[in-house]
Amino acid sequence: MEDCIFCKIIKGEIPSHKVYEDENVLAFLDINPFVVGHTLVIPKKHAKWVWDLEEPDYFALMQKVKTVAEALRKTFNTEWVGEGIIGVDVPHAHVQIMPRRADDGLGGFPAQRLSPKPTDEELNKVAEKIKVSLN
Ligand code: AMP
Ligand code: ZN
Repeated sequence: MEDCIFCKIIKGEIPSHKVYEDENVLAFLDINPFVVGHTLVIPKKHAKWVWDLEEPDYFALMQKVKTVAEALRKTFNTEWVGEGIIGVDVPHAHVQIMPRRADDGLGGFPAQRLSPKPTDEELNKVAEKIKVSLN
């Protein structure tokens, strides 16, 4: 899809803070996160909704969601990783995962994004930490 921002990230036409990549799936940090470590996991094949994916592609995506969620648990030393499929802003299937803490004060569904927005340098550092847990 030519105009799709996530397809452009996949093609390397716009930068992202990648944490995991294979033939079919890419995971990268949300640029405007609700929590430190907020990660998006997407299929490389464009689909508008995760529900549009063929079953094998859906399962392959969700398997990687689990892999990355486990890395978030390790990186941020927490059991709790929230998962969400929203899809209001970007019409390319994506699963959001967020490391949480019982004492983070954000409630069940965080309503505020981090302010100020993390810098590229800060996001790079977070991505590097997550990548260590994935190895
Ligand atoms: P939604 O479509 O409502 O599930 O939300 C899309 C998410 O993608 C939001 O949390 C955005 O902050 C995030 N997002 C949008 N553009 C980018 C980008 N270029 N890089 C990383 N995250 C992005
Ligand atoms: Zn796309």
